[in-house]
Amino acid sequence: MLIATSAITLDREINPWEAQSARFEFAARKLNLDENLWKVLSTPSREIIVHFPVTLDNGKIEMFTGFRVQHSIARGPGKGGIRYAPDVTLDEVRALASWMTWKCAVVNIPFGGAKGGVICDPKKMSRGELERMTRRYTSEIIDFIGPEKDVPAPDMNTNEQTMAWIMDTYSMHQGHTVTSVVTGKPLNIGGSRGRTEATGRGVQAICDESMRYLKMNIDGCRVVIQGFGNVGSNAARLMMERGYKIVGIAEFEGGLSNPKGIDIHQLLDYKRRNNTILGFGGAEAMPSDELLVSECEILIPAARENVITSRNAGQIKAKVVVEGANGPTTAVADDILAEKRIFIMPDILANAGGVTASYFEWVQDRQGYFWKEADVNERMESILRDSFDDVVRYSEAHNVNNRIAAYMLAIDRVAQTIRQRGIYA
Ligand code: GLU
Repeated sequence: MLIATSAITLDREINPWEAQSARFEFAARKLNLDENLWKVLSTPSREIIVHFPVTLDNGKIEMFTGFRVQHSIARGPGKGGIRYAPDVTLDEVRALASWMTWKCAVVNIPFGGAKGGVICDPKKMSRGELERMTRRYTSEIIDFIGPEKDVPAPDMNTNEQTMAWIMDTYSMHQGHTVTSVVTGKPLNIGGSRGRTEATGRGVQAICDESMRYLKMNIDGCRVVIQGFGNVGSNAARLMMERGYKIVGIAEFEGGLSNPKGIDIHQLLDYKRRNNTILGFGGAEAMPSDELLVSECEILIPAARENVITSRNAGQIKAKVVVEGANGPTTAVADDILAEKRIFIMPDILANAGGVTASYFEWVQDRQGYFWKEADVNERMESILRDSFDDVVRYSEAHNVNNRIAAYMLAIDRVAQTIRQRGIYA
């Protein structure tokens, strides 16, 4: 449907920008999107590449490369995380930035889409090196970020501490504290209650809605989760508490399986003490790629891109795939899953709990008034449930799958904004 499998190499299949573009083009065609808007929306507005020095602990200087891409700021300031990884590329950050545009539009919050990344290996860096790298990267992109311009947040390998350093660096340059320049901060410097667990909580809300829609039972429903970082571990814990049976956890280093259900509280405790899930006594070891294609009702890829590809999509046995990560399924794999009638909850809806809570954090910082955790959770879940309804209704009305429905809904909302504002060209 999107790209013929035979006509594409694996290299192209796993290029996130190509994956994004394939879905955009398909949805835009279905929408009959006007040619001018098509051109505007298929191109990122701004791409910043910076090369900058950082002093390492051994006294030497190393050069690092960082990116910040703003795909669209039509509906509000750019919004999106910053990731640290050795294999970050401009194409990846570009794709992630446009996914943020669509994500914010699907849940109808007043942000555009942006993303950042620095090529580095955070596991091999000391805290001091990470702090110096973060501060220098921030100062390199400082003219392009700000509460009204572009508001970064955590993503892969970045966290509350990273956001605290960015907030502090930005504030030092402004001469006063500006908490709303980033979200995902620690609580006592303008963070929001509920933000850390929000993406996992949103994944759970979308699983609940999918179960209701498909008339399936939550109690005992078997779930395999790929990734046990912030998103995967919070989704696993909240879902176990809700009655789902977490039968598999697949990590990059290896996986765990227990058909009777893994006790996630114990696993979290084990991981805190050992810094790995391997060797946990409450489950059997199983290779992660086998877990992805094992028997279950729900599969949640919650780590990174390109986990479900043309290589394994045909063997997936789950009835429902809920994407906790960004871009875990390639466009080619989408077609295979569609043929198998697997119900997919796409990333731009399923993992939108995080950015929705980020929106609340930005609002609270600007108001200087902080909400109770229950209010954050309730409002976030209510936005996700409404967006779920919007997407499935759109999919039924236009006879397209959920992913294309979510893209169509999002593109339509952004296009409408640009039409009303007019193109300054
Ligand atoms: N990095 C997260 C995402 O991909 C959060 C973005 C945000 O909160 O701005 O959705």
